[in-house]
Amino acid sequence: MQLYLSPHLDDAVQSCGGTIARAVREGEQAVVLTIFAGDTHGRKLAPRAARYHAKCGLADFWTRRWEDVEACGLLGAGMLHLDFPEILYRYDPHGRPRCSTRADLFSPLRADDHVVVTEVTMALEQWVRRLRPTAVYGPLGLGGHVDHVAADVAFRRAMANLGAEAPRALLYEDMPYAATEDTSGTSRNRSQATTPVIQRLTEQDWTCKLRAVAAYRSQLASIWQGADWRAALRAYAERVTPDGGLAERVYA
Ligand SMILES: [Zn+2]
Repeated sequence: MQLYLSPHLDDAVQSCGGTIARAVREGEQAVVLTIFAGDTHGRKLAPRAARYHAKCGLADFWTRRWEDVEACGLLGAGMLHLDFPEILYRYDPHGRPRCSTRADLFSPLRADDHVVVTEVTMALEQWVRRLRPTAVYGPLGLGGHVDHVAADVAFRRAMANLGAEAPRALLYEDMPYAATEDTSGTSRNRSQATTPVIQRLTEQDWTCKLRAVAAYRSQLASIWQGADWRAALRAYAERVTPDGGLAERVYA
């Protein structure tokens, strides 16, 4: 069984949905575990979160969860949603929203984020012990979004804490950042200690991925800022293959 860690409801499928489709086609079991799938835990939406919901046409939290159920179903993967709220829905210990501006989304981790990282690390260790995957894929943290960096740090810590029990760990390049931004600096830093692995995909794998990504209909316009996401993903998939074809790049 392979486990794919997703910071938000959409990241693993957008970033390595082709790899998931290929694994399932080859007879592997795959589970996508979304870390920040929780809601505000009874608090009302902070102003920035309310604006985001209005922009995406979201009436409730369940819409995004159902989109993920559909996406994972299209890939033939199982799915798990952990109850950690993403940064938009988090409050600091003084009751202030963690995120008020766009810059907050990409700020360095703060003390209260590190508390979240510790809790996520423990949850990931428990899920790995329970599911016993042969490989776990986690985000590289490209783009510097707080939740992606937190997920990356928690993943690395959980693997280190598991020691001899740890399965094979691989890091995927986060979308949309890997496809749309100049992340070469971050990528180079991150990849210094790791080896790139090119996951070659068939057209069938690719079609399967695109169908799954399309399920995140409330999110795509916002994430890709109106750009043609199919074209952007395809350009990336063609760029990372040294000799033609389609692929996703991960690091071992
Ligand atoms: Zn994300």
